[in-house]
Amino acid sequence: MSKVIPGGMNRRGFVAGWLPGIFHRKPEREICGVRFRVIEHGFGAGRRYLVIHGDEDTARDVLTKHMQMATGRALIVTGKARHVQMRGLTIDPNRMYSKAGAEISLRALNPANAGRIPEVSRWLDGHREKLLRALTPGKGSRLFALHNNRNYSINDELAASDDVAQNQPAMPRHFFLCTDPRDFLILKQSPYNVVLQTKADPDDGSMSRLAARRGFRYINLECAIGDFDGQVERVRWLEAHLP
Ligand SMILES: [Zn+2]
Repeated sequence: MSKVIPGGMNRRGFVAGWLPGIFHRKPEREICGVRFRVIEHGFGAGRRYLVIHGDEDTARDVLTKHMQMATGRALIVTGKARHVQMRGLTIDPNRMYSKAGAEISLRALNPANAGRIPEVSRWLDGHREKLLRALTPGKGSRLFALHNNRNYSINDELAASDDVAQNQPAMPRHFFLCTDPRDFLILKQSPYNVVLQTKADPDDGSMSRLAARRGFRYINLECAIGDFDGQVERVRWLEAHLP
């Protein structure tokens, strides 16, 4: 039982009030219609971590384990499906970071319910900024997102990229995508694949376009689903080499 201190606040509340963020775990939280497990350990130089696709179990497991050691804030989607249900419509949560991107995703995934898209889009407009605030890293810091793929590879990103280092041509499904040229210079020295994407347009609602528009550092790590050790290895390399 926690000790009650003068003023009616118990010791736990007192300590948490003085040391915000340190070993402060929140349970599930709904942000912009998506349920997340939020793990917050210390300040972590303003670092943010993200798993946004519920069907990418390897990424979820890797990040959950990583946050036992890493400091910063992680948002890990709790649903098991790739797409989320929002006000009765289906949307890809990795395309809802802008109005234009959300509407493209809503149109693609709800052909029988197109009449409701304007209403859901307006609802998103009123809630999106809360999610973007939760994901935006501290000044100069970075957002690191983990994904898994089944039939997608670095080859699908080459045309949209400003620069490419294919250090592991035999493993095209494993690659980093970054938005800051300085991060690219470091990641290209790794034994792993990496692409650089710095442009804000065309606006497809993805995080890389948003990061380019708002000017924060974003790194995405794609790995084949099921390769837990391979994803852990790359997360560790990044943490050891990127400021
Ligand atoms: Zn994904």
